[in-house]
Amino acid sequence: MSAPTLRRDLVTNRLVLVAPGRRGSPRDFAPPTLARDASKCPFCPGHETHTTVTRAERRDASGRWTARAFANLFPMARPDAAVEPDATATHEVAASVGDHEVIVETPDHGVDLADLSDAHTRAVLDLYRERCRTMAARPDARAVLMFKNRGPRSGASLHHAHGQVISLSVSPPGVRRRDAISRKHHAQHGNGALAEARDRELAAEVRLVEQTPRFAVFCPFAPHRSYETWIVPMAPSPSLARLDDAGLDALAPLVGRTLRRVLAATEGADYNLVLRAPALRHWGAPWALWSLEILPRRGGDAGFELSTEMQCVLTTPEESARALRAL
Ligand SMILES: [Zn+2]
Repeated sequence: MSAPTLRRDLVTNRLVLVAPGRRGSPRDFAPPTLARDASKCPFCPGHETHTTVTRAERRDASGRWTARAFANLFPMARPDAAVEPDATATHEVAASVGDHEVIVETPDHGVDLADLSDAHTRAVLDLYRERCRTMAARPDARAVLMFKNRGPRSGASLHHAHGQVISLSVSPPGVRRRDAISRKHHAQHGNGALAEARDRELAAEVRLVEQTPRFAVFCPFAPHRSYETWIVPMAPSPSLARLDDAGLDALAPLVGRTLRRVLAATEGADYNLVLRAPALRHWGAPWALWSLEILPRRGGDAGFELSTEMQCVLTTPEESARALRAL
């Protein structure tokens, strides 16, 4: 299997992950009419041998696993990744070193994270927190990603509810850009950019969905998707990996409730759930702050987005927040 590599484009200076090994990954969405057949699902109970061995799990009182983590068979980063000499390479190339895990969120094939009890959601978030901590402790880790793809328009390849945690040996461009903006904002104004956005939304109120003692939930002023919604901690904290148990208690019902609101408002749109966190070297910085973003997905980028690298959003975040508050 060819190792995943990071290539840089000479024209755009963009980094691209080239991962031919992922071509073999199972896909039960394509063709779209294919039945979502639990009998062949590698994430269903009884099929544990269809995945790599369990690295961590949560169990209920009866001993049945309720969430489990294991290495991705088709990784975007590998501990042993290396670049093979290639005389045809026209620009920079580097090995995609790191680790990549799948976290199955429920034993039930047809159920999503949004359908789980608060206690089950807390167990899932606790497992994500643990896996983020483990990934962050890797000596080669520079950034830890956590995300969940739900539905074919989100990029998911399997129906059974799951998420992914990845460690990378480089800070990817999106993380690097956000870190640079937040660091500069803190130097100039004494507040990180995400904390500033949160505080301005709390003051403006019009895009606020909900505020609790530990978290603010709002639709951002300039969203990338209709009904895009952010969950941001009130206190400084660099990552979900550093959230304490009381924070997890508060986060679990909020994640469930916010997902259900967004799904109701979008009539069950596919979505991505993405953890935004600074690169590991900034976790001690005063501006370091994480968030969870829910990004509903109705279709891929069209010609306008491809031409401009600018998203066109059809619902204002003020309308989105009003609808979400009403649900
Ligand atoms: Zn399944």
